[in-house]
Amino acid sequence: MDFVEQLKSSVDIVTVIGEYVRLRRAGANRYMGLCPFHNEKSASFTVHVVHQFYKCFSCGVSGDVIKFVQEKEGLSFYEALKSLSERYGVPMPKRSGYADEDSKVRGALLAMHELAEENFRANLAAGSGAEARAYIAKRGLAPAMVDHFGLGHSDRSGRTLVRLFEQRGFPVAQMEESGLVGKRQDGSLYDRFRNRLMFPIHNETGKIIGFGGRALSKEDEPKYLNSPETQLYKKSHVLYNLHRAKEGVRKSDRVILVEGYMDVIGVCAAGFPNVVASCGTALTADQVRAVKRHSHRIAVNFDPDGPGANAAERSIDILLAEGMQVRIVELDGGLDPDEYCKQRGADAYQERLEISKGYFYWLADRARAKHDTRTSEGKVAVLNFLLPKVQNITDQLERMTIANDVAGYIGVDRGMVLDHFRKAVSDRSEKAIVRPKSLLRHDERMLLNALLSDAELRGEVIGTLRSLRTIETLPSRRIFQAIFTIEDAGGRVGFDEINGRLEEADQDLLAQAVLNEDGEVAREEVIASVISMQRSEQQNLRGDLKSRIGEAERAGHFDEAVRLTMELQGLERAERGRRQ
Ligand SMILES: [Zn+2]
Repeated sequence: MDFVEQLKSSVDIVTVIGEYVRLRRAGANRYMGLCPFHNEKSASFTVHVVHQFYKCFSCGVSGDVIKFVQEKEGLSFYEALKSLSERYGVPMPKRSGYADEDSKVRGALLAMHELAEENFRANLAAGSGAEARAYIAKRGLAPAMVDHFGLGHSDRSGRTLVRLFEQRGFPVAQMEESGLVGKRQDGSLYDRFRNRLMFPIHNETGKIIGFGGRALSKEDEPKYLNSPETQLYKKSHVLYNLHRAKEGVRKSDRVILVEGYMDVIGVCAAGFPNVVASCGTALTADQVRAVKRHSHRIAVNFDPDGPGANAAERSIDILLAEGMQVRIVELDGGLDPDEYCKQRGADAYQERLEISKGYFYWLADRARAKHDTRTSEGKVAVLNFLLPKVQNITDQLERMTIANDVAGYIGVDRGMVLDHFRKAVSDRSEKAIVRPKSLLRHDERMLLNALLSDAELRGEVIGTLRSLRTIETLPSRRIFQAIFTIEDAGGRVGFDEINGRLEEADQDLLAQAVLNEDGEVAREEVIASVISMQRSEQQNLRGDLKSRIGEAERAGHFDEAVRLTMELQGLERAERGRRQ
C-alpha cells in the first residue's frame, strides 16, 4: 500500500471534516452539514463514511480527505499529507516523492516574503525610513514592540524588491504570484508597496505570507493596503498575530479580537498577548475556526463608533454559529483599544475585560436604545431583533436559558418569547436538509452500490452485466466500464479507484449513486434486477430478430432468414435453460 492509501485508511474523514464543519448523521453511512466552501442555510454538504469522500450538492465541490485539507488550509498536496500525518500520527516515509512543483513554488514565495521583510526592516532603520519612524514615535510604539512585530518600511523607489528578486533569480511569474510585485501593461515590474509602514502577516505556523501597509502621507490611498490573495495568503483564513497569540490564548482560555494592526500591537504592549485581528476583512467562519482550536471564549473589542459596533454585531452571528462564548468589551471615552491601553493603562483595560457584557446583554442594550420598550410595539421590535441571534446559539441548553433571559431583560411575558422561539426553530429544521437530485434510476444506483461494496455479489453478477447492451445505454455507463476495466486488470474495485478513472461529470454521478442509496445492499433485489435487465434485453433482441427474419423472407433472402431463425432458436433455448 502506498503512503497516500495508508494515510487515508488510517484517518477518519468524518473526524477531520468534523473539525471544520458541524456534521450530523443523515443515514447509515452519511453525515451532512453546512458546506464550508460556499454560504448556505440548508445543509447540502455530505460526507460518506465508508467510501471516505465529501460532496456538496449545491456548489459541487467534492473529494477525499486530502483534498479537503488542501482546500480548507490552502495547502499543496504534499503539505496536506504532511499536516494530516502529523495531526493523526501516521508517520510519513522519509523519502517520498510528493514534494511536487506546487510545494516548490510555495517555497519560493515564502523565501520572497522573508527577503521582503528583511528589506523593510533595514529601510526602517536607514535614512529613508525617517517618515515611518516619525509615525511610530507619534503613535507611541516602543522599540521592543516594533521589533517584536517585525515592522518595517517599504521605500519610495518602487523597484527595490523587483531588483532584489531578480538578483536572486526568481522567475517573473513567481514574482507576480507573490503579490509583492505588480506588472504594468508594458510588462515592466514594480513594487506593490511604496512608502508605507509595513506589518508582516504570518500564518499559524509563523511563516510570513503577506503584508499590510499603512500609508505615511495623506495623499496615498488607500490608508491600508494589504497583499492580494495568493497561493500563500487567503485573507478569509488568516488572523493577524494568531501565531504569537495562540499560546496566550490557551493559557488565559480567552482570545481578544480587535479590528486593526495597531490595536493588536497596543493591547499586546499592555501585557495581553492573547490578541488577534482579522486583516482588513469582516470576520469569517474560517477565522473563527482557526481560533476555536485554542479557546472557545472570545472578547470582541471593536472601535466604539458606528461602523465598529455594526462590525461587532455581525461578528456575533458568525461566532455563535461556531459555538463560541462571546463577550463584548466596551471602552469609555470613545477610545479604540490601542488608545485606551496607552491613556488608561493595563489595569483599566483588564477591568474592562472583566466587566465585559455577555453579547446578548450588549445586543439587548443596542436594541433598547433604538426602540421604546415601554410600548408593546417596541417590545416586539426588540424581540424580533434578538431572537434570530438566540437561534444561532448551537448549544440547546444555553439557547433556552438565554431565550428565557431575553424575556426578563426586556420585560415581556416568558410564554410569548418561548412561542416565538419554538416557531422559529421549527421553521429552521424544516429546510435543514437538501436531498441530492439523482439523474440515475433506482436499479442503476443499486447495481453500482452492489459492485462497489460487495465483492462476492460482484463476482456473481459482473459477467452477466458485461454482456448486457442495456448497460451501454445508461447515463452511468462509463462508471460500469471503469469497474469492468479495473476488474479485468485484477485491481481493487473501490470508490477511489473508480473515481480516479472518471471525468468530472461521471464523478458526480458516482457520488449521487453512492449517496442516494443508504444502508445494506439487498442481495436478492440486485440479482432480480440483473435478471430482469437481461430478460428485457433478450425480449428486445428476439423482437429484433423476428422482424429481420420477416424482412429477409419478404426480400427473398432465404439463406439469411434460416440463419437468423437458428439464431433466434438458440436464444430461446438459452432463455429456457436459464429459467430452469
Ligand atoms: Zn458547497
